[in-house]
Amino acid sequence: MNRLVLASNNNGKLVELNSLLEPLAVTVIPQRELGIEDAEETGLTFIENAILKARHAASASQLPCLADDSGIVVPALGGKPGIYSARFSGQGDQANNEKLLDDLAGLSRDDRQAYYVAVIAIMTSSTDPTPLIAEGRWHGHIASKPSGTGGFGYDPLFIPMGYDTTAASMAPEVKKSLSHRSKALAVLMPQLNALYPQQ
Ligand code: IMP
Repeated sequence: MNRLVLASNNNGKLVELNSLLEPLAVTVIPQRELGIEDAEETGLTFIENAILKARHAASASQLPCLADDSGIVVPALGGKPGIYSARFSGQGDQANNEKLLDDLAGLSRDDRQAYYVAVIAIMTSSTDPTPLIAEGRWHGHIASKPSGTGGFGYDPLFIPMGYDTTAASMAPEVKKSLSHRSKALAVLMPQLNALYPQQ
C-alpha cells in the first residue's frame, strides 16, 4: 500500500484529515510516528507555511507528504488571528479563545464575522517543483461565549453561517461535510485518486 505522511502534530487536525482521507487507497502516517518534529512556520501566508511544512516532512521522511496550514480570520481585527491562530495567546487553545473574545468585546454581530481557512499542500518529495495546493474557507461568526465539547481550537466559538450552534456542538460527520479542510481536500480528490488509485 502507498504511504502518505501527514505533516502535522495537531491531534484535532489529524483526526479530521484521517477521516477525510479514508476513501483513498493509501496508508496515512502522522509525522510523529516517524519522529518528525513540527516545522518552523516562518511564512507570512497560509500557503507559504503549508509548503514549508510539507517540504520539511518530505525531507525528513523521504515519503510523499500532506500538510494543512489553517486558522481563523476575523476581518474586523485586520485578519487576526490568521496564520498565528495556533500561537495567538502563546498559551494554547483555551487561552486563544479567551483572547479572541477579549479582542472582540463590545463589537456587533457584523464585526464578529469570521472564516476558517485551510491550505493543503501535497508534495511527492522535498524537491517536488509542482506541489498540489488547494484552499478551502468556512464562513460564520464568533459567539459571545464558548459552547460545545467537540472539535478543537476555535470550534467552541465559531458559529457557521446558517447554524445557531458552534462547530464544537456539531457531530463530527456534520463538521466533516462543511469544513474548510474538507473543502480544500475535495478540490484535490481527483489528483489524489490519480496518485493513489484503488487496488
Ligand atoms: P497550524 O497548525 O499552524 O495550521 O494552526 C492551526 C490552528 O488554527 C489550530 O491550532 C486552531 O487554533 C486553528 N484551526 C484550524 N482549523 C481549525 C478547526 O477546524 N477548528 C478549530 N480551530 C482550527
